Amino acid sequence: MSRYNYMNITKKCPLCNKLGIFEIFTYFGRLNCINFEIGDKVIWEKFNSVSKGGRPDNGDLLSLGWTECKNCECELDARIDIKNDIVCSVDIFNSNHSTDDEK
Ligand SMILES: [Zn+2]
Repeated sequence: MSRYNYMNITKKCPLCNKLGIFEIFTYFGRLNCINFEIGDKVIWEKFNSVSKGGRPDNGDLLSLGWTECKNCECELDARIDIKNDIVCSVDIFNSNHSTDDEK
């Protein structure tokens, strides 16, 4: 069973440059299909390590997620910046996945 949370963020795609709503899948804190918004407080798993959803030192974490552009259908990485348990900002970027098509 794959578990995640998600955020819907309006951003410009770094590849096709089109403004759209990106559904970003995230993997920090308690994973229960929670819809996060910027400014929300993260719910951490009690007594777990950070990799299992626990709280990092000071509630600060730079977490990676992924998303997909609905226009050009590229896969993109997302960087979620959490400060003091609050989701502060989200960036999406193209990490240049090498795929078989590009060889
Ligand atoms: Zn795109």
